[in-house]
Amino acid sequence: MSGIKEETKHKAADVPAYESELLRFQAEAERQLGLEEAKRVQWFDPVPRQFLMKDRASTTILFGGLTMAHDYLVEGALAGLGYNVKHMDCPDSESLRFGKEFGNRGQCNPTYFTVGNLIKYLHHLRDVEGKSKEEIVSKYLFITSGSCGPCRFGTYVTEYRKALRDAGFDGFRVLLFQQQSGLKQVTGDESALKLDTSFFLSFLKAVLLGDILNAIGYRIRPYEVVPGSTDAALERCKAFLYKALRDDRWLIPVLRKCRKELQTVKVDRTLVKPKVSVIGEFWAMTTEGDGNYQLQRFLEQEGAEVEVQSVTAWILYLIWEGRYDTLKRMQLKGEDGGRYGLEGKNPVMRMRMLAVADRVLRVMFQTYAHAIGLTGYHLPDMDKIADVAHRHYNNHLRGGEGHMEVGKLILNVVKRKVNMTISVKPFGCMPSSGVSDGVQSLITEKYPDAIFLPIETTGDGAINVYSRVQMMLFKAKQAAQKEFEEALQQRNITQDQLGQYGSLSAFANPLRTSRHVVACTAANAVYGVRKFAHWFSFRRNNQELEGV
Ligand code: SF4
Repeated sequence: MSGIKEETKHKAADVPAYESELLRFQAEAERQLGLEEAKRVQWFDPVPRQFLMKDRASTTILFGGLTMAHDYLVEGALAGLGYNVKHMDCPDSESLRFGKEFGNRGQCNPTYFTVGNLIKYLHHLRDVEGKSKEEIVSKYLFITSGSCGPCRFGTYVTEYRKALRDAGFDGFRVLLFQQQSGLKQVTGDESALKLDTSFFLSFLKAVLLGDILNAIGYRIRPYEVVPGSTDAALERCKAFLYKALRDDRWLIPVLRKCRKELQTVKVDRTLVKPKVSVIGEFWAMTTEGDGNYQLQRFLEQEGAEVEVQSVTAWILYLIWEGRYDTLKRMQLKGEDGGRYGLEGKNPVMRMRMLAVADRVLRVMFQTYAHAIGLTGYHLPDMDKIADVAHRHYNNHLRGGEGHMEVGKLILNVVKRKVNMTISVKPFGCMPSSGVSDGVQSLITEKYPDAIFLPIETTGDGAINVYSRVQMMLFKAKQAAQKEFEEALQQRNITQDQLGQYGSLSAFANPLRTSRHVVACTAANAVYGVRKFAHWFSFRRNNQELEGV
């Protein structure tokens, strides 16, 4: 309190007379109300880690929130480390209902879906499986990633605890690992949850494999000849990889086995489909359930090829953030001691470590991708995205996807990566709404070729969203058709002649990727025809002569 008085005296010396009078009045009023006597204790929400070694065998770790492939494979990876784990189903409308019933008002939509999904599962354990509240609280815990914000992501863990308490599961453990801290997570000796190198490596492998399977699935499924054959092959691959992760086996032979499975899917890439990129807020664009009205599947049903964002790209963004912030901090020399103004720290070493992390991640991804047959897949260049976005959206702004939404849209148009871009923003999300509603309208002015659709996900209103998507997709289909016709013209091939080339690798091999020229896959396959066409015609003529 004496500190406050000192501060008051100090301020009084510097301010006009009426301000001093106000401060004196305030001090007097506080004294009369007894407030100066009150001991002010800051509220602090501890991060409990009550998962002790003695409970490890009897405790099941619940988690979820990425795509179905990721959640399933992460379960396998953590099982391989000796944990009892269970991934929860993809959040649906029922999860949203639970979230709204027990969550605080005014949350963003992903909070309701993810928090509600946990409550829904605990209700299932209690009401369907007949477990008591005490058993659920003592034998289960939930693990999720956290952040210090700046958006509501920073309050998720508190929101989980509040909703659990109100839903009758007071004391249920929600453990948190900070996504910015990487390997520097704190866990005590007696803690059963070891957030160490092997934990992160296993988790990382599962994330990379989930991304790779998703990328392959979205590439093949729109062109499959037998409906459902891609999903069936992917399910087999997932099962192989789950077992390999659980048994801690070398992944390359397993990925080669998956490759053979995927090669059995018959495709027809002469089908002209617009390529649609789904970007936006991380959770809303990643989930495959009601959280975004099952947007990816809806687009495929409507005749589009979908390009999804990988979780690996998000990790690369976190690494980029670390590099960018460290570099900026190093330029603030003189703010404290030390050569770079960072006394006691080694920013040069940190920059090197982050560069190595970026490189290792990319090498691991491409090694697995090539083994399974995912070729021509480029992980985003984070510096490039930051650079193109920076003219319109400051790289210092964080929350949601930061500048990435802006950068991705520009690159999608300029590099002709896709025919249409959909930005998914959850209701109540300030960072994402600010970007999509505000800055992106400027971008579409500057880049009039962009076919861009921002959609807001509230949990209801699916029909409205579907009809807006259908209207915009009509334009994208025309754009893809135009690219295809231009490709035919350039290669001097008629639509009728195309049938002859249907069995060429570019059109029929499910794992073949043609060189990128334009967005539409069928058009790129046509551009790839020339170098094979003469050989194909020659072989065909020979076969006809030989009566084959
Ligand atoms: S980015 Fe938006 S939707 Fe996502 S956690 Fe933050 S506020 Fe919520």
